[in-house]
Amino acid sequence: MTDGDPRSSDPVATGDSVVSEAAESGDRLIFPPCPRCGERVITVTSRGPRDHVAGPCGCQLTRGEVKRL
Ligand SMILES: [Zn+2]
Repeated sequence: MTDGDPRSSDPVATGDSVVSEAAESGDRLIFPPCPRCGERVITVTSRGPRDHVAGPCGCQLTRGEVKRL
């Protein structure tokens, strides 16, 4: 019996999502330095339109500084 398994010859199901992953390994691991203290800024927490805090150092940043990161 060979009925009931129409997907067995579908080439899309396997080996498709590996291609474009390699480009992520380099640039995204480089975090920009904090303009206040020079620590690497890994997170920016925004509590309001003028209240941004860099992490993990905790320096306050202006909106213009956040845009440069
Ligand atoms: Zn800082």
